[in-house]
Amino acid sequence: MKRRIILYILVLFAAVFSVLAWLGSASSGIPVLTYHHIGSGNDWLYVSEADFEKQLVYLRERGYTTISVAELAEGLSGRTKLPTRPIVLTFDDGYDDNYQAALPVLLRQGMRASFFVVTGKMGQPGYMSWAQAAKMRAQGMEIGSHTVHHYTLTEINLKEMERELRGSRLMLESNLSITTAVFANPFGETAPAVVELLEKTGYQAACSSVVGLNRPGGNLFMIRRMSVPRAKFGLWDFRLRLWWLNMLDRLEL
Ligand SMILES: [Zn+2]
Repeated sequence: MKRRIILYILVLFAAVFSVLAWLGSASSGIPVLTYHHIGSGNDWLYVSEADFEKQLVYLRERGYTTISVAELAEGLSGRTKLPTRPIVLTFDDGYDDNYQAALPVLLRQGMRASFFVVTGKMGQPGYMSWAQAAKMRAQGMEIGSHTVHHYTLTEINLKEMERELRGSRLMLESNLSITTAVFANPFGETAPAVVELLEKTGYQAACSSVVGLNRPGGNLFMIRRMSVPRAKFGLWDFRLRLWWLNMLDRLEL
């Protein structure tokens, strides 16, 4: 009797483990991660340099290849072929630590990232300059728009919205010669009117903060992302987040 109970428990344990392993196994969806600061600040938006580097090493060891948002858009729309395990690393707001702290780690690990800058804040204290953005671009990084002023787009009128989108794109064009730009919504807020204006003002793709992975056929102006906050339990936080993303995708949520 006792033996039978142990056997039942083992079978149950194996079944639960297999389901969890299947849910967490790599799916064909493509992850896009969102960072803000790299450094030792106090709030949750800061990921330390050491944790960031550990995360990149982990991704590399798992066979991931970093691509840009523009490359993701091309791949998802079927115009180009993507590498086997693509991933996109994005940074919002254009803080100066992106240049000072994130860039050296990325270069050391042979990886690329996309930086969404608030064009009206470039060169102000705490933000990267246009010269720094140009250097990052020359080293393989992608620079995109995060509007001119970082207003919540759903809270301003259409005229102001258009000024934010067109204005920031023109700043990218005049300062960095970027003609077809990519975009990230401030605070992740988006709406059909924003999507329409993004197409009209010459953008190729846009990131939201809807959580999930990206598959071919998805809306290129509503790219899903997953935020990476400060790690509380080292690499475990990060591994758990990737596992969770895969699980959501497996369950098609
Ligand atoms: Zn932002």
